[in-house]
Amino acid sequence: LLLRHGHRRDRLVQLLHEAQALQGWLPRPALAELAAGLGLSPAVVEGVAGFYRYFHLQPVGRYHLLFSDNVTDRHAGSRALAADLCRRLWLEPGRTSEDGLARVGFTSCTGLGDQGPALLLNQQQVITRLDGGRVAEIAELVRAQVPVADWPTDWFTVEPGVRRPGVLLNAPASQGEAIAATRARGNAAALDELQASGLRGRGGAGYPTHAKWRACLAAPLTAEQTRVVVCNADEGEPGTFKDRALLMLQPDAVIEGMGVAAEVLGARRGFIYLRAEYRFLLEGLQAVLAERRAAGLLGPHFDIEIHLGAGAYVCGEESALIESLEGKRGTPRIRPPFPVERGYLGQPTVVNNVETFAAVAWIARHGAAAWAAMGTPESRGSKLHSVSGDVSRPGVYELPFGTPLAELLREAGAHDVQAVQLGGPSGLLLAPPDFERRLGFEDLPTAGALMVFNRSRDLLEVVRGFAQFFAHESCGFCTPCRVGTELVVRRLDKLHAGHGSPFDEAELRDLEALMHGTTHCGLGASATNPLRDLLQRFPEALCSRSPHAHFVPGFDLDAELASARAATGRDDTHAHLDQVPR
Ligand code: SF4
Repeated sequence: LLLRHGHRRDRLVQLLHEAQALQGWLPRPALAELAAGLGLSPAVVEGVAGFYRYFHLQPVGRYHLLFSDNVTDRHAGSRALAADLCRRLWLEPGRTSEDGLARVGFTSCTGLGDQGPALLLNQQQVITRLDGGRVAEIAELVRAQVPVADWPTDWFTVEPGVRRPGVLLNAPASQGEAIAATRARGNAAALDELQASGLRGRGGAGYPTHAKWRACLAAPLTAEQTRVVVCNADEGEPGTFKDRALLMLQPDAVIEGMGVAAEVLGARRGFIYLRAEYRFLLEGLQAVLAERRAAGLLGPHFDIEIHLGAGAYVCGEESALIESLEGKRGTPRIRPPFPVERGYLGQPTVVNNVETFAAVAWIARHGAAAWAAMGTPESRGSKLHSVSGDVSRPGVYELPFGTPLAELLREAGAHDVQAVQLGGPSGLLLAPPDFERRLGFEDLPTAGALMVFNRSRDLLEVVRGFAQFFAHESCGFCTPCRVGTELVVRRLDKLHAGHGSPFDEAELRDLEALMHGTTHCGLGASATNPLRDLLQRFPEALCSRSPHAHFVPGFDLDAELASARAATGRDDTHAHLDQVPR
């Protein structure tokens, strides 16, 4: 492995993937060998392996089954199905069976919210549309130790899930036309064209794409360096799966958009950072790359590698993603310098989202005017949305920016809607008066996730689920996020358990205000967005869970002392807090 990767330290995450594939986990001697081969200390290698959810420092069994655990998956019954599978296999969730056969657990959203409940099998494949019957069959196959290769192949089918295609999803296959058009225009004119189109990044922040590229071009470069183009395919925001549809249906357009960027920036290196949950797309993407390379469609000086993520939501942040590309823990960098100035291995690096590159290719072919004719003045063009939750037609919808949210809800078959989480858990929790507002940067900005909750859903539970997600995904680098996300979960747990009071609500408000202003990266800053909106738009969801007028503890101290009573053999009045005479 080391030889194949040229003993390069920046290949460490990929080396860990390949080393783990040999035995299903990463024994210490294997890590020590990698460390020695890369000239790193074992602590550094273990630190990297320990950072990512899908690297295992303990055996996880021949069959490792991880249920997708987004809030919408829970609503679709994933927790009950996981409990059923554990019962059938005599397993405790999250623990490997003593015979090393299997382990059942949970993972953050797998990007299959339109085809759930779903699970990830051995981090290689996904099984969609689970129900009780399929879980029973899975249990039988595991017990009989049937190799995964012999499991029914149709279980592993993932559909693109497109309900309404638009110009991007319907685009004819791109075979070099976008790059040829860019060359014909010349780099300066191509950048002006991008500016005239009004394209803003589709990853959420909405930064003008041309401005990012111009900043990269302006960054100084030494003779040994190159500019680098990175496609962020780490679609980790729960409830988002529209990039999956693009990668399945329009991989040529995405790669060609990267080629346009390489042409304009003079970049020689490119990466697609593919989230680990989309491992099932890897071979297909590699085949497309190989075909384009053979046909000379990547360009004479530009090539693209695919880098597989390993389960860390924070790597969706561009500087954390670059750290991961360099074989490190995915900790967001201190900025400035920004990646466009000093990115991958210190070189000026442009990171754009999958959808942004597809749009770049479309604009290069069809021109800025055609793109700018769609959408609104601040939000030009077409936008993909992943719709899931309480709708009869979940899937991917492509609409011009400026479409009212209500129109999308109608088209997706939403009824009796209580709330919509727009833009994933880091976005906005919206109430019915917001539904007439328009999707776009000037009104309802969104990276493209829309989760619908009808009136049967407990919104405190929804927000508690999102809070658990952020606490789990916090990289731990800065205290306000590491501790704050955990404190929010504990406080919401207390409300959930019926021990709430106005004191807890005030504590939550303080935490929410604190985290917005003090965290190192956007994950911590946006982790309490759903809580903020719950407090503002649905105050009754909290009030109804705060039955006490004054502070009460979050746990029953007398009950906690039960084990001490059992150990000492005492059960008299003085061994019970609530019976001690005052
Ligand atoms: Fe890590 Fe959270 Fe701090 Fe971001 S805000 S650096 S995710 S601890």
